Amino acid sequence: MKVMKMMKKAAALFLTVGMVVSLAACGGSNSTSSQPAENKEETTETGSTAGAAESAAGIDKIVFGTNAEFPPFEFISSTGGAIGEFDGIDMAIAKQIGDDLGAEVSINNIEFDSLLIALQNGQIDAIIAGMTITEERKESVDFTMPYYNATQVMIIKEGTEIAKAADMEGKNIAVIQGYTGETCVKELGFEYVSFKKGPDAIMDLINGKSDVVVIDSATAQKYVNDNKDANLVIVEDNDQFASEEYGIAVKKGNTELLNALNAEIEKMVGDGTIANLADQYAVAAEE
Ligand code: GLN
Repeated sequence: MKVMKMMKKAAALFLTVGMVVSLAACGGSNSTSSQPAENKEETTETGSTAGAAESAAGIDKIVFGTNAEFPPFEFISSTGGAIGEFDGIDMAIAKQIGDDLGAEVSINNIEFDSLLIALQNGQIDAIIAGMTITEERKESVDFTMPYYNATQVMIIKEGTEIAKAADMEGKNIAVIQGYTGETCVKELGFEYVSFKKGPDAIMDLINGKSDVVVIDSATAQKYVNDNKDANLVIVEDNDQFASEEYGIAVKKGNTELLNALNAEIEKMVGDGTIANLADQYAVAAEE
């Protein structure tokens, strides 16, 4: 889960690429490095031929789209967060990007399902939303290099007989609309109910209507910690749920912003900034 493990996991994933192909849409991307370079549809419409460092100087404002319902990556903090009321790992990354580039950064909080459209419409410049890099999404947007490694997990009430993904068959399964977790369950061929927000799915589980919620690992951990009385536990199935990588998305062909963001992510992964943020917010989530 931790970024430190990311490279190892990515390497393992790469080596077993033949095996994970059938899970790819469920588990996310098989690529281990920056995808945009091989993107045939990429254009140079922006007229930018500059490298990351040079182009960064030209960026004075970035509107990031997110869905602040995905702790510990993005959530609204009543006491104030990294950017206005928005806090979390992604929000701290966005703030750091703004500081480094000398750009004004703002957050547009919209439904997760609408983020890709908002980017295509030009309503936002980039998506930072714990968004998994998938082949399907890459058809409509460009992603930066990965900055975080995750996987889908199952949250159940202690005692529910689910030890692996296949055990969900016949159970009441809850997912969140448009998340990769939904894709995973769909691919398994099981019926499910999809909720607009994570907390709604968790409430359904706590109330006993749903037997299991499928969601990203770090977010699952946060919900389990936040609902101690409900005796929720996490069940992993790494054979079924492949490793996923989060990336920041930009509009197709926006190479100027993409280069600047890639340079930032490379730096923040390399110097441990993102690993530290992940630890910091995971600890905060347990308090
Ligand atoms: N990683 C999941 C996805 O990309 C969930 C992201 C989110 O809810 N913010 O679908």
